[in-house]
Amino acid sequence: MSYKNYPMVSRVVYGRGSFNQLNEILSPKRQNVKAPFIFLVDDVFKGKSWLTSRIPLSYDDKLLYISANEEPKTSQVDDLVEQIILDYKERPSGIIGIGGGTILDLAKAVALMLTNKGESKDYQGWDLIKNPAIYHVGIPTISGTGAEVSRTTILTGPIRKLGINSDFTPFDQVILDPELTKDVPKDQWFYTGMDCFVHCIESLKGTYLNAFSQSYGEKALELCKEIFLEDTLSEKEAADKLMMASWHGGMSIAYSQVGVAHAMSYGLGYLLGVKHGVGNCIVFEHLEEYYPEGVAMYKAMREKHNITIPQGICADLSDKELDIMIDVALSLEPLWENAIGKNWKKTITREKLKALYQKM
Ligand code: NAD
Ligand code: ZN
Repeated sequence: MSYKNYPMVSRVVYGRGSFNQLNEILSPKRQNVKAPFIFLVDDVFKGKSWLTSRIPLSYDDKLLYISANEEPKTSQVDDLVEQIILDYKERPSGIIGIGGGTILDLAKAVALMLTNKGESKDYQGWDLIKNPAIYHVGIPTISGTGAEVSRTTILTGPIRKLGINSDFTPFDQVILDPELTKDVPKDQWFYTGMDCFVHCIESLKGTYLNAFSQSYGEKALELCKEIFLEDTLSEKEAADKLMMASWHGGMSIAYSQVGVAHAMSYGLGYLLGVKHGVGNCIVFEHLEEYYPEGVAMYKAMREKHNITIPQGICADLSDKELDIMIDVALSLEPLWENAIGKNWKKTITREKLKALYQKM
């Protein structure tokens, strides 16, 4: 038995207002005046000077606003990389992502693809990246995905939705400033927060569980219960804690895997463009069979916060379309093996998944 030797985020700042330290953190990393920092910023912050005025731009540095309406695509990563290569003679000093999971994943992927030849679709999978990425920094503005801490960047490509999982993917630096999450709309807060909750349940109920994953997963779950089920926290305390829950939830799946909800949610994302957070909620509603306690707790949270989850989104799909989603879901073998065990193929049949999708 040989154990995986995982990299982690090498530096992290935590605290309200820590975003103000961005300049002092980046300055020593500038290679030279011709090697810019490229800031990829969620376009929800366009015109929001409380945030953008604190982004330090000098020399040839560039700020690109990017929409998070759609999740990142391999073609989008390749286009951004090409644009950067054409615009600058030198490799950038760093890529800084400021936003939710969508923007963080884009930042990671662009940093990787600036030093690895070819197209990003060819690196979707496990450990296909050959060269270290350029310096990259993640600054989350919404909490839950764990993308700030993970060794993957999830991309939708021409044939699949799958991460670029590699030792070079994790950020070199993360800035955790819960203040940045203050304007997240309530529904979105819940959907992305539930991504964290589902990470905990899938990790803690998975067959890959070990004490490493369990310790992080239990802490994240405890925080989620406090945030989503109890009335003891102020809004600020809840935001502070959700940022740390996201971190711990991400750490928990680093040494294990996600499970049924994620496998099926990837199918919805690939075919229908359903976003990760809400997709997990749509799926999780119907997974009592696999996660009875987790689903009951999830429903209590959803009711407490009066959140509506889209229904009937698969009602009018053809068999061909259902097949596409089933193919995507079934291709994620490690997720099923974690969720069900080595013999998962005996119970997770195409018919079973079709019946589940048809309820959604
Ligand atoms: P997101 O980045 O898609 O953003 C969701 C919405 O919230 C967007 O409309 C965005 O503009 C808005 N938003 C973000 N910050 C805001 C703020 N401070 N104020 C107001 N609005 C704000 O959401 P997400 O759920 O964080 O990320 C989902 C993505 O993360 C998916 O692409 C998924 O595949 C990926 N993901 C990655 C990992 C990983 O380990 N790499 C893990 C889980 C999910
Ligand atoms: Zn997730």
